[in-house]
Amino acid sequence: MPELRKDYFNERFVILKRGEWTARQKKKTSDAKNCIFCPGNESKTPLSDLVLASRHGTMLKLSDMPEEYVQDWVVRVIPNQFPAVSEDSPKKYSDPPLYSEPALGYHYIVIASPKHVNFEDVDTDQWVNVLSIVQDKARWLYAKKNVAYVAIFLNQGRDAGASRAHAHMQIMTLPVLPPTIEKESRAVQKAMRTSGGCPMCQIIEQEMKGSRKFLETEAFFSFAPQASSHPFEFWVFPKAHQISFLKASQKEIMDLARVLELSFKALAKVIGDLQFNAILHTSPEKRTSRQIHWHIEVYPRLGGFDGFERGTGIYVNTVAPEDAVKALRDVATKILKGR
Ligand SMILES: [Zn+2]
Ligand SMILES: [Zn+2]
Repeated sequence: MPELRKDYFNERFVILKRGEWTARQKKKTSDAKNCIFCPGNESKTPLSDLVLASRHGTMLKLSDMPEEYVQDWVVRVIPNQFPAVSEDSPKKYSDPPLYSEPALGYHYIVIASPKHVNFEDVDTDQWVNVLSIVQDKARWLYAKKNVAYVAIFLNQGRDAGASRAHAHMQIMTLPVLPPTIEKESRAVQKAMRTSGGCPMCQIIEQEMKGSRKFLETEAFFSFAPQASSHPFEFWVFPKAHQISFLKASQKEIMDLARVLELSFKALAKVIGDLQFNAILHTSPEKRTSRQIHWHIEVYPRLGGFDGFERGTGIYVNTVAPEDAVKALRDVATKILKGR
């Protein structure tokens, strides 16, 4: 029977309508020949001001020079050629009800591997490189003007909004705090005032005892949220109450890298053609009154029901989170045993 579930503290509803579900055939990754993110095609992209490259066994942070691109790189951060926000936005403001302001900001792409691969093929060591570079760039961006929030996310696959096949992440600054983070921080603030504790810590504690656990490591815990809006959705939280991804230590980054590698490998094995969005939720660095317990939310894209969701704000999910994590856990255990 269908069941209506509500998100832990947001006004977000999901109708759980358990149904038949089949894995999609994994598509062949498109040709690397015309890929501008692949090594050899650096000149077809804007110059990079942050390139991670291994030289004589040491990782160095370098930048491209005009006509002189850093070769043999490991991670490459480039300005988005088609940015959603820009420092050059015309300075036009208008008042409500026709409110508008310039979409000022910076929009970068992090090429997550020198190989033409999907995220399920990115290994732990490479994840460490990627996450460290993302931390670096985000810290640098928070020092800039007109930056209220640095959004960090990744899209893989056309259904998830990615236009290129090569694994990449995006870093985009916003002149305003995104409503999702604003809402989460308000819920945290309210709970801190009334019950004295972080509500996300309480959810972690509760989910650790329940049937929606996915992976647990020394520092991280992942689970399928009880009102999963998408099939096979899962969230990854630091177990300790931490407010900022930017302050995660190298040891924690290594731990997180292991979790991400295993999660995406398991996800790809279970759902076949892996198309998904992953979004980092972290506290804005400049406003201490808007703190949350940072985490990553992963939304696999299997298609369906978009119009209804857009029109009503209510999601329909055909895979119960309890069943989804069971499939994911089984596959993750097999992957670990095979190592
Ligand atoms: Zn490529
Ligand atoms: Zn917490």
